[in-house]
Amino acid sequence: MRYEKQTNFKEIGHDGQEHLAKSKVLVIGCGALGTMVANNLVRAGIGYIRIVDRDYVELHNLQRQLLFDEDDVQRNLPKAIAAKEKLSKINSSIDIETIVKDVNSTTIYDLIQGIDLIMDCTDNFQTRYLINDVSYKFEIPWIYGGVIGATGVLQVFLPGETPCLRCMMDAPPPSGAVPTCDTAGVLNTVTGIIGSLESNEAIKYLTKAKDKLLRKMLYLDLWENTLEKIEIPLNPECPCCQGQEYHFYENKEDHAAFLCGINSVQVSSPTEEKISLEALEKRLQPTNYRTKRTPYLLKIYAEPYEITLFPDGRALIKNAKTLEEGKTVYARIIGN
Ligand SMILES: [Zn+2]
Repeated sequence: MRYEKQTNFKEIGHDGQEHLAKSKVLVIGCGALGTMVANNLVRAGIGYIRIVDRDYVELHNLQRQLLFDEDDVQRNLPKAIAAKEKLSKINSSIDIETIVKDVNSTTIYDLIQGIDLIMDCTDNFQTRYLINDVSYKFEIPWIYGGVIGATGVLQVFLPGETPCLRCMMDAPPPSGAVPTCDTAGVLNTVTGIIGSLESNEAIKYLTKAKDKLLRKMLYLDLWENTLEKIEIPLNPECPCCQGQEYHFYENKEDHAAFLCGINSVQVSSPTEEKISLEALEKRLQPTNYRTKRTPYLLKIYAEPYEITLFPDGRALIKNAKTLEEGKTVYARIIGN
């Protein structure tokens, strides 16, 4: 019997297993966290999984994105498609829907239809604030996972019960202000652990063990072997969970545009803050990217792309063929 090790665990049992079989989960992002989460949930018997990702499998993904292999790189497969190929061999009884798409304020409404729980497996704050908005507006819980270097964070957000992401930090950090996995690296050990912890909270939530859910922010540093639980208080002034203002969802402007003639995609900064080109250049030093800075712009040579970044956060990404590709490169190298 496929799930006997799980049903023998008395906190889940046969009832819990039936709940899992009836559950519908949305996995946003199918990179290191998304492949871990999808792998765990499909093996655990969650009935329906919808996976959304805008990216393709590349060689540098294989260090940590456990559903992909060299063959997928060779075939230039979209991550969602490659993931489904593996997952349906692992458990053919699961209904797996895959969508190759950018998740933004225009696309997210359709993506959450019929969903019981949203798994954040993204690599950027802009999408997390959008997820937070739709979660609290439409009352669908979400689980936040983030990784960088050897550190990771985890938090469970339950609309009507817990503070939201904006209680903690009103807006995403300005573009270029936080390290990304491209600039600071990431270990496959921490992505595996945070992906597993996200899956673990999902299983608790879906088997109705709500009293066992993590109610604080978990922060762990695998290099230093430290683990902290941080209490995030509800902010009575929070525009989202208290004021029912859903700015990130209601703002339908697209931040990317294709620029004909110069073979570039333009991506505007999703926030209004100015970028320190000098600080970003410093942060890029340990990477293989060559940079050139003038008082007016920063050039980043990240093969096959040539990025021209302006202090207002606007970037031209040469050789990006689609808006999605442009946004992905922006999120990876500049941040957000
Ligand atoms: Zn809030």
